[in-house]
Order: sequence, then structure tokens, then C-alpha cells
Amino acid sequence: MLTTDQLYHKFQECSGVSTDTRRITPDCLFVALKGDTFDGNQFAGQALASGARYVLVDDAAVAANDPSRYLLVADTLLALQDLARYHRQTFTFPVIGLTGSNGKTTTKELIAAVLSKNYQTYATVGNLNNHIGVPLTLLAISESYEMAVVEMGANHQHEIELLCSIAQPTHGLITNVGKAHLEGFGGIEGVRKGKGELYDYLAQHGLTVFINSRDKTLMAMYRERLKTLRSETTFAEVAFYPAVDSAAVDSAAVDSASAPIKLLQESPVVVYRDTTGQEITTHLPGRYNFENMTAALAIGDYFGVSPEEANRAVADYNPTNNRSQVIVKGTNTVLLDAYNANPSSMAAAIQQFAATPAKRKAVILGDMYELGAESEAEHAALGKLIADSKFDLVILAGKDMRFALAYLPKAYYFPDKFSLHNWVMDNPMSDTYVLIKGSRGMSLETVVPFI
Ligand code: ATP
Ligand code: MG
Repeated sequence: MLTTDQLYHKFQECSGVSTDTRRITPDCLFVALKGDTFDGNQFAGQALASGARYVLVDDAAVAANDPSRYLLVADTLLALQDLARYHRQTFTFPVIGLTGSNGKTTTKELIAAVLSKNYQTYATVGNLNNHIGVPLTLLAISESYEMAVVEMGANHQHEIELLCSIAQPTHGLITNVGKAHLEGFGGIEGVRKGKGELYDYLAQHGLTVFINSRDKTLMAMYRERLKTLRSETTFAEVAFYPAVDSAAVDSAAVDSASAPIKLLQESPVVVYRDTTGQEITTHLPGRYNFENMTAALAIGDYFGVSPEEANRAVADYNPTNNRSQVIVKGTNTVLLDAYNANPSSMAAAIQQFAATPAKRKAVILGDMYELGAESEAEHAALGKLIADSKFDLVILAGKDMRFALAYLPKAYYFPDKFSLHNWVMDNPMSDTYVLIKGSRGMSLETVVPFI
């Protein structure tokens, strides 16, 4: 069995790390992980044949093939995490860790865009934010960078604690705490506790935290920690955005009217007035994206990026995936937000859409996954919210969306997305503003070609 130190030497001979035999690059280290339905050990030989330099395995019989290229450990996942922790010790630059219920990836990309104006910045690629993705992210960072932004996702207690032990952030941000992954966390209190593990880590290690002072939940979480922390173990610095004086920290709410960055318009895209008085038009819709932007601007400011450069980065940022894209299809405008959905992001999207003036409005909404026992009630509550919003056309798809129907006698309902495709194809829309949103598993972006 290899020690972490020995494994690290082997890793340094490699060009990178892969856990997927379809993505083997020459001279990489292939890590054989186990999934529910596969055992990576079985693919190790194939990885070597495809060009991997070494394969990390935890099956002694497999390793016996060629001990010089099969690296045997007791548990490949734990070894991958240890390797990342070990590699992390070689960085001396800031590592910004971010978590939260919604907006992590968008905020991460906005922060990276802003910091890239002044620093060689590495940011998590896509959504590689879990117990495998975070180690892979860390292992992809080399000493040539000056700044790293690491997205950390969680759907259970102690996951953020684990991810912090790997990424060892020097600075941290929680975007928000809402109703996401209720099933694994055990309700909203559980989510608060689980995400709060980032604050705990930063406080225990005397590090810096960025806090959105307009977010009452985050402020309450911060205050709770102030009460329980001993003075020798506390945050190095708390950077509130907007800034607050110490008296306001103790009060229940922070006044947002005095916020230096002002939202001027949130639809179809956010327009804001910056601290310098400049008006900035972005490519992202919605108040929630304004929140994500202000986090990126605050972090840019903290690290010395000029407001002009930071605003340019935010204005130029264009999401290339399924996150909140505005797509024009003939006379229709589609607001595609099909990347994921949970009760809080769904409510935020619907309220914003309802507040947007348009001649005719339609919503195409898909199931919210991972709600466990709360699923029926949350889908029913969503039905009520949709009914209150009085859209011209309501189209629902997915198994649990049927619970929303009680409030929506005129809605069109499809148990799966294929019947949805057919209906949309047969009933063309015109002059309509369309919101599309559902959980990733629903992949509702597939409906766009039919509109
Ligand atoms: P995941 O858990 O999949 O990693 P994430 O936290 O990275 O998600 P994003 O990918 O940035 O989140 O955004 C996903 C969706 O969440 C967006 O399309 C939007 O509907 C919603 N969203 C984004 N930012 C916020 C926010 N600040 N508050 C509420 N909802 C948001
Ligand atoms: Mg994400």
C-alpha cells in the first residue's frame, strides 16, 4: 500500500487526474472509483491502454497485474481526497471557498471573471463541487496561479466540513441558505447548519468571511457564531457587503436602502448603478443574479480590482450553459432556467417572472427533485404560487408536478417530457414570454427547439 507521500510523487509525474476512462489524457493518473453500478477497478487496464501513466486502485487482485503502474491503496476515494489535501499545502495564494443553496456556480464564475482582471485565477470547472469534484479541482491547480475559487456543494451534514478540510479555503462566502436538498439535510434548519460549516471552519482557523449584510439568515448565522466563539478563535476579518457599522451587526436587520450598488432593472436583464455612478447592463436576468453580482463585486473590491475593471467583467459575463439564458425564438422570448430547481429558486424565478411586464406569459415547469417527504407539500405550495401569479398559460411536467394541479384547473400536465415535447410542437406559441425551469434531471432545455 502506498503512503500519501509516495502517491504524491507519482502524481507529480502525471499530467493530470481522471476518474473517467472516456476522458483519459496522455500520462494522466486514473483514479478507479466505485459507483452504485460500476467498479472503476474493472476499467483500470483500459485506462492504461488509453494512455494513463498510473492507475490508482483498491483491489489487490487488479493491482497484481503490474505493481509498477497499478498503485494500490485501501480506498481510492479517501486516497484521492488525501492527495488533494497534500497538494493544497503547496499553494500560498488565497483560496476562496463558496457554498450556499442557490447561485454557487453563477457567483463562482462572476467572482472568477472579476478576479481574472488582476490575477491568474483558477475556478472550479462547471459544477465539480462534491466529495470527488473538489479534490479534482484542487489537483488541477498549479503553483502558477495567484488565486483560486472553489465551489463546494452539499446535500448532507458534514459535507462542507469535509470539503473545507480538502480545499482549506482562506476566504469564504455562503451565497444564501434556502430550500434546497431538504431531503438529505433534514429540513431548513439542517440546511442552515450544513452550510454554516463553512463559517465554522473559517472562524476556527481565524480566516476571512464575506457576508451579504442584506441577507437576514446569513446575518443571524454570523451573530450566532459571534456569541459562541471565544476571542482567540474567530474570523480574521468579516467583510460585509454592503458595509455595516458594528451597531448594525447586532440589530435584527440591515438597512439596504443605503447600499452603494443599486439595482435599476432586473428584467429581461439586470441593470445596476455602480459605486462610481456608472450604469452597467449585464447579460443575466433577475434580482437573484444581482445578489450574485454584488458578491463578485465585493470580493473584487476586497482584492483590489478597480471598480471599472470589475464592472466590465460582470457586464461581459455571458452564461454558456443552461443557467438563466434569454433566448429569442421567433416572436417568443424564452427565459431558460432549466439548470436546476428547488423550492426557493423556483419561487424566486416565478416571482420575478410574474413581476415582469409582457403581453402574454407562459411557464413550462418541471419537477423539483430531492425533496423527500416534503415533495408533495412543496409541489402543492408551488401550485398555489403559480395560481396567484395568473400566467396566461401554465404547462407542468414530471411525476410530482401533479401535486401542483389542485390549484391549477386550467394547467396542461404531462407526466414526462416527451409528451410535453409533442404538445408544445402541436400548439405553437407567439408573442409569448416563456419561463422554463425544472430540476437538472428533467433537462427541460430539450423543449426549447419545439417553441
Ligand atoms: P448546484 O447546486 O446545481 O451547484 P448552484 O448553487 O451552483 O447550483 P447556479 O448553477 O448558479 O446554482 O444557479 C442555478 C439556478 O439557481 C439558477 O438558474 C437560478 O434559477 C437559481 N439561482 C441562482 N442564483 C440564485 C440566488 N442568488 N438566489 C436564488 N436562486 C438563485
Ligand atoms: Mg453549481
